Amino acid sequence: MPSKNGYLLISLDFELFWGVRDVKTKSGYKENLLNVQKVIPRLLELADKYEVKLNFATIGFLFATNKKELLDFAPSIKPTYKNSIFNPYQYIDNIDDGENYNLYHYAPNLIDLINSNKNHEIATHTFSHFYVNETGQTIEQFENDLLAAIAIAKQKGITFKSIVFPRNQINEDYLSVCLKHGITNYRGTEKHWMFDTTDTNRLERPSHKMFRLMDAYFNLSGYNTYPLSNIKSINGVLNIPSSKFFRPYSKSLKALELRRINRVKKGLTYAAKHNEIYHMWWHPHNFGANIEENFNNLETIFKHFTTLKRDYSFNSLTMSEIASIVNAK
Ligand SMILES: [Zn+2]
Repeated sequence: MPSKNGYLLISLDFELFWGVRDVKTKSGYKENLLNVQKVIPRLLELADKYEVKLNFATIGFLFATNKKELLDFAPSIKPTYKNSIFNPYQYIDNIDDGENYNLYHYAPNLIDLINSNKNHEIATHTFSHFYVNETGQTIEQFENDLLAAIAIAKQKGITFKSIVFPRNQINEDYLSVCLKHGITNYRGTEKHWMFDTTDTNRLERPSHKMFRLMDAYFNLSGYNTYPLSNIKSINGVLNIPSSKFFRPYSKSLKALELRRINRVKKGLTYAAKHNEIYHMWWHPHNFGANIEENFNNLETIFKHFTTLKRDYSFNSLTMSEIASIVNAK
């Protein structure tokens, strides 16, 4: 049965330094990372004002209050990546606790804030920012990582139904492990070739990155919206693909900002008119610099959502709510 309306989905990969450890330095990315303490309360406030639901796909490490607690929950079977840069446990050996320093690595206060709000969903982004397609790691290591994430979240009474895989790497064999541990859905990638995450080296090529950057401003890959009927189960877990990575405000590309926001608005309008899903995502740390500009842009999008809600009964749900609708059909 076709859906009577479309849906806006928003997922946020909440990871602090763990998500960028291999590509950025703490000092170079300090403003973005430390400001996550301001960004999350503001995201909740703005989303609640416009009745938009958010999914916070959160790394297990962030649930810890300090290094000791992180290590208490860490699995004994750890990932054995061929390229050791992906292994966070070597990095952990060299960190110490310190009030300011901890803000790069842990966020139990923010998780409590999201959890007490009750309008939004907390999903998992694995325990350690686990890369399921990198050479050297195994399905057994992934399962142990996922179990650690589940255990540390359980302490706060949080149970995961949704997963967002780090770097959007998808390994379909691993989905049966997710299913076994209560995960009903994951965020897949857009169908277009420029979002295929199978080959990390290809994704990192400058020409490849340039296409993705251009796509934020110009309609190269389409709107990537889809009807509920296109959400398919892969090894028992529903694939709820992304429609758009919501890039942060760019000072150097300021002249194109309006074009970027309009591209998102057009995608939302298309989804609302055709009873389809528009799934946007980004990281809270993307909003940590140029905070006012980023929030102004988001509010413009939320205002547009309100209009579409009025005109087309466009609605906002979390990933697990969408999964429940699909599974009920
Ligand atoms: Zn991530």
